[in-house]
Amino acid sequence: MPTIVIDEDQCKGCQMCTDVCPKDLVKMADDFNAKGYYPSKLVDSKGECTGCTLCALMCPDVAITVYR
Ligand code: SF4
Ligand code: SF4
Repeated sequence: MPTIVIDEDQCKGCQMCTDVCPKDLVKMADDFNAKGYYPSKLVDSKGECTGCTLCALMCPDVAITVYR
């Protein structure tokens, strides 16, 4: 089953990945990361991620790894 892993301490909270996911599976977390940003997180309880890689391609900080 495809999924992503977000390296939250690499994330600057720019929200570009949250806008681009066609399934709307990437949300912003409620807690700061080590850099003081709110990182993004995957919210995919139904396993809807298709592994399309759009979120990872969009991330300027290369914080997202896609597994398919
Ligand atoms: S790989 Fe595609 S479907 Fe999965 S979280 Fe990223 S943008 Fe969404
Ligand atoms: S695009 Fe990258 S840096 Fe921006 S919120 Fe998403 S994971 Fe974080």
